[in-house]
Amino acid sequence: MAELPPPRKARGGVLIVGGGFGGVTVARELGWRGATIVNVQNSMLFTPMLPEVAGGIIDMRNAMTPLAMVCPHAEIIPGRVTDLALKHRHAEVQTDGGLRLRIEYDNVVVAVGAVPRTFPIPGLTEYAVGCNTVLDALYLRNQLLRLLAAAEAEPDPERRRRHLTFVFVGAGFAGVEALAELHCLAQDALRYHPTLRDVPQRWILVEGAPKILGQIPSRLGQYVQDRLGQLGVELRLGTRLVTVVDGRAALSDGTECDAGMIVWTAGVRANPVVSHFGLPQDERGRVPVGPTLQVEGYDDVWALGDCAAVPNEANHGDIDPPTSQHALRQGRRLGKNLLALQEGRAPQSYNFRSLGQVATLGRKEGIADLRGIRLTGLSGWLAARAVHLMQVPRRPQRIGVIGNWAASLFFPGNLVTVAGLVDAPSLGTGSAPPVASPVRLPEPPNAAPLIEDGGHFCR
Ligand SMILES: Cc1cc2nc3c(=O)[nH]c(=O)nc-3n(C[C@H](O)[C@H](O)[C@H](O)COP(=O)(O)OP(=O)(O)OC[C@H]3O[C@@H](n4cnc5c(N)ncnc54)[C@H](O)[C@@H]3O)c2cc1C
Repeated sequence: MAELPPPRKARGGVLIVGGGFGGVTVARELGWRGATIVNVQNSMLFTPMLPEVAGGIIDMRNAMTPLAMVCPHAEIIPGRVTDLALKHRHAEVQTDGGLRLRIEYDNVVVAVGAVPRTFPIPGLTEYAVGCNTVLDALYLRNQLLRLLAAAEAEPDPERRRRHLTFVFVGAGFAGVEALAELHCLAQDALRYHPTLRDVPQRWILVEGAPKILGQIPSRLGQYVQDRLGQLGVELRLGTRLVTVVDGRAALSDGTECDAGMIVWTAGVRANPVVSHFGLPQDERGRVPVGPTLQVEGYDDVWALGDCAAVPNEANHGDIDPPTSQHALRQGRRLGKNLLALQEGRAPQSYNFRSLGQVATLGRKEGIADLRGIRLTGLSGWLAARAVHLMQVPRRPQRIGVIGNWAASLFFPGNLVTVAGLVDAPSLGTGSAPPVASPVRLPEPPNAAPLIEDGGHFCR
């Protein structure tokens, strides 16, 4: 086994594991005092914009920002923390370039986010794709466009029907938004597939609960439901996906259909890597922290975001939901608490009153519930976009996103397909080997074999 290089110390004594909403906010709060961030890639991803990346509205590079630009005082190490020696205050890191490093710290912040929550459904991990990573979003857009082209060329009506059947499982925000954006993209693309205009498409949204978007007020939920109905979406509430063997979706209400694409958006769970770190976990796998965001039983270990169970004083100590707005506010408090410790002051309790909930439903359609102010249609869409835009930390990306949105009012979404992106990133981490698509469209001629390299598809 290769010898480890000599251990090095985290910048400013603070090691941040994970450079998403939570980790980045902590580093920004620490400012010139600096920190070392270890993150799987060298950029931060704005997950709330993934449905619009999938829908071909937002350019991928506007939904991601290089960490070095967002946190100019931090040291950035692209790679993964594989182990934490909590007693000895050091972390083992596997860098993107294949190096193994040992990093010592005075304080460690665990902000590794969440992964899709899956169930032992036969065929699920082989045939379904999530909407959690950029690769997922790029794959969904590409596959939808390829299925439309394949349907146009297909003489067999059975196979054509399959190419035009899209099943989404999970009607939370990610599922509803992804469906609405991809539906818009399909309608854009139909302008260029005239023979498909009168051929029925099937869009099915499956949800185990009796209503969609469980967290929002019923009136807004009903609005979304009506809007989906206008788009011709078949809503299956109180229904579960039972199997997807060979890409044939069987639902608990007895429906069975062959699908061209099966999108799994049925919630998330804390990143299971926290169990390798030897941290305590609650019944949902989250790391329980106290009101100051210190992990129970440790003064020098902190956790936040989707991987942590964070009590919110403004909410009678209830645990925060896994959203970016909460991860951002937790990050601010955690950063301030680290500064307080460095300056000999006592850390303070976290409290934050949620701004509310927003969702976009395709072009000029959205909903917002902002502290009791409820908006739908164009005003809901504008409010949702304003809230998302506020979370983008850098001006170039903000301007890029505004440009993309403006263009989408006049032009179709991105209809370009990429030859070779034919295998779905696997459900789970987006970094495991590619798996089968429900409809395996043939590899284009002269395409070099696709290889997987550390989660990035390349030739
Ligand atoms: C499609 C979609 C839409 C969403 N829409 C909204 C929305 O509209 N509004 C909203 O409030 N929330 C939304 N969310 C939820 C929001 O994205 C999360 O709550 C938020 O990202 C949590 O922040 P975090 O810092 O905990 O995790 P993340 O932002 O996910 O960051 C975690 C980081 O840790 C890295 N990491 C993981 N393991 C390791 C390791 N071992 N070593 C180093 N780095 C590691 C990951 O690569 C990642 O960069 C959405 C989520 C999805 C998937």
